[in-house]
Amino acid sequence: MVFEVPKLRYDYNALEPYIDEKTMRIHHDKHHAAYVDKLNSALEGNAEFRHKTIEALLTDLNAVPEAIRAAVRNHGGGHYNHTLFWEMMAPKAGGKPSGEVALAIEKDLGGFDAFKEKFKNSGLNQFGSGWAWLVVSKGKLEVISTPNQDNPISQGKVPILGVDVWEHAYYLKYQNKRAEYLDQFFNVINWKNVEELYLKAKM
Ligand code: MN
Repeated sequence: MVFEVPKLRYDYNALEPYIDEKTMRIHHDKHHAAYVDKLNSALEGNAEFRHKTIEALLTDLNAVPEAIRAAVRNHGGGHYNHTLFWEMMAPKAGGKPSGEVALAIEKDLGGFDAFKEKFKNSGLNQFGSGWAWLVVSKGKLEVISTPNQDNPISQGKVPILGVDVWEHAYYLKYQNKRAEYLDQFFNVINWKNVEELYLKAKM
């Protein structure tokens, strides 16, 4: 399979003022594209693995030949993480979740405010580059972080919300203020998408 950067479902400036247009352009068109290019070239010569989906590759990294495992983990992870990320945000979004995921946040995480604090701290305390996630693990919600471009599916957990805390995700607008970026991220969370991913993960 030749992987491609998916088209954004909204304009580059649609997440303003929380996520700025310039960051979106560079992040989507340059950073994500670079992960895709490097993933494709890593898989190019491998007849067996080039036909697998990105989910299949990342779910079982140990099955990937050692010669390309690091490339699949890093660039494949980068491709998958960003593909999820663009959908996890939306214009005129944010606010509070509703539906099943809201009930699960109450039950498993002690409510929306507790979740918010946990999620923010998870992003804040991820040393260096990485991601903070809301995941479904053994049927329950958990907040975790991963380094670099690791995705929770490689640990058997299903991501339903994630925030990129690599500096490229926020530096142009927020510089060193990762906390402020994380606060503003709550204004663009696409809870409808989170709910869909939650219901799918629970099936
Ligand atoms: Mn990124």
